[in-house]
Amino acid sequence: MTSYVDEQVAARIAAAKAKAQQQREAREALAVARAAGLRARHRTKMRRHGVRLGFCASCDRPLMRGTYMLCPDGCGARLCRGQPRCVEQHNPQCERASRTHTDSPQETA
Ligand SMILES: [Zn+2]
Ligand SMILES: [Zn+2]
Repeated sequence: MTSYVDEQVAARIAAAKAKAQQQREAREALAVARAAGLRARHRTKMRRHGVRLGFCASCDRPLMRGTYMLCPDGCGARLCRGQPRCVEQHNPQCERASRTHTDSPQETA
């Protein structure tokens, strides 16, 4: 058995839930639209500036979209994708690569 107050409370909770759900859906729709817009703008910019995105940190070959990978050690350098040689060459120069034999912080201090 439910009282009038219980019904009122239940109705208010249901209304609040529906409103929250509505707001969440609106936010999600907005986020999706914004992401799509950003992607489109990025594509347009890439087209306007040409697809060249930079140069390989190892071999200086120009890199196009989809032809490079970022340094696996995370220094941000771009390297030819599908060219293990470029990664190997970059590694000794990479400031983020873990090195056991040189440049220990204790020695440089
Ligand atoms: Zn390269
Ligand atoms: Zn690196």
